[in-house]
Amino acid sequence: MARMAVAGAVESPTLWATRVIPLILAGCVGYATYVVPKRICIDYFLHTRQQPGVAIAFLVLYCTLMCLMLITYLRVFLVIQYNPGVVPLGAGVIESRARPKKRKKACGRGQELDDLEANSGRYESKPDPNPDSPGLERYYSKDVFVCASDGRPKWCSHCGNWKPDRAHHSSEIGRCVRKMDHYCPWVGGIVSETSFKFFLQFVFYATLYCLVVLAAGALSLSLSIRSGSGADGFVIGVLAIGGFFGLFAFAMTLTGMRYVLINLTNIDDLQAKFMVYQLAIRVPRDTPPGEKYGIITYPLPKPESRKYESGNDSGTHLSGSTSEGNELVSARDALATRTFAIVKTEMGENPWHLGLYGNWKSVMGSNVFDWLLPIRQSPCVTYENNESFYEMGPLCRELRTRYGLPEISDENVRSEKQASEKMPRDREAHASRAP
Ligand SMILES: [Zn+2]
Repeated sequence: MARMAVAGAVESPTLWATRVIPLILAGCVGYATYVVPKRICIDYFLHTRQQPGVAIAFLVLYCTLMCLMLITYLRVFLVIQYNPGVVPLGAGVIESRARPKKRKKACGRGQELDDLEANSGRYESKPDPNPDSPGLERYYSKDVFVCASDGRPKWCSHCGNWKPDRAHHSSEIGRCVRKMDHYCPWVGGIVSETSFKFFLQFVFYATLYCLVVLAAGALSLSLSIRSGSGADGFVIGVLAIGGFFGLFAFAMTLTGMRYVLINLTNIDDLQAKFMVYQLAIRVPRDTPPGEKYGIITYPLPKPESRKYESGNDSGTHLSGSTSEGNELVSARDALATRTFAIVKTEMGENPWHLGLYGNWKSVMGSNVFDWLLPIRQSPCVTYENNESFYEMGPLCRELRTRYGLPEISDENVRSEKQASEKMPRDREAHASRAP
């Protein structure tokens, strides 16, 4: 997976919030660290009340949870900066984004405006018509992917590139992001497939940390009022801050856990009830279109290969060895094709729903250490197989039955194997054209 910093067009208020909020958080933690360990644990419980047990218990809890909170924060912050899960830009858009800087010096105001318009997404508004469009092979080498009505993958006109399953375009950073959840100035950027696990761990530990702050603050405050020594203003301050952030973090923890368990992102959830997914599901070669579904075959036909096919069909004579060679090539090409039926889910169905525990494991990992420690990436980030971009649930099989799609027979798989054994050179040539 490409590691890259987000080079996006973050708008200035968002950028301002992203820079300032982490500083405010650091200030609050610094203040709490002065009040809870110093004023409450050492000054009040240890020295004033002579209760070393209570002081040590709160100190240990406070320090442990603060460390876990800071470590998970650092993990989520760094992942967001260096591996935010963005989809690469198309070549045309990279060019157009690079252009204004060069031209600004040479040209007048009119040209600048033209470039700014182009930069704001007017390039690549239509999907790349090239049958060998860079990156397209990655989609049709799967058995199922999210597609547009014509059977090709979805297209992002801002990024000028194909959109993988579950990717959304973020207006904040000007990029498509895989499994994008939300833009969060609290953790310095876009929360997505690469960072959601760590984000959830962070808000979970932040909730527990705030609970310890509240418990220590409330206990010391009530004891000091009862003993007649009055209320410490610092303790009241820490209770207010702990209460505010604690409630916020607790709400985020519950919401995040819900998203993980139902396998939705914040963005998905906005329209989950009404969402209809269009999927290209692989079927045997030469499957004809059905009453309820269309068909698309990859690689998409090239204008010249169409000419060949019609020439052969109509009995046009091609001379000698060239004809044999072409027939061999088209026979090999035919064996390497992959046909897909274009079907739709019912409203509100989620193709990635793997059951509650399956959903949980796909984000949080398969054991309790993975759940609690911010070390390993979510399994859904590293999920790579020929079936789909993200593991799909039973709905995919159900759609085959619902639409009466034929199964890919063993024979089909065998002949494909033969084709791939016969034509390593063709495949290499094809692969070298891909990015
Ligand atoms: Zn995009």
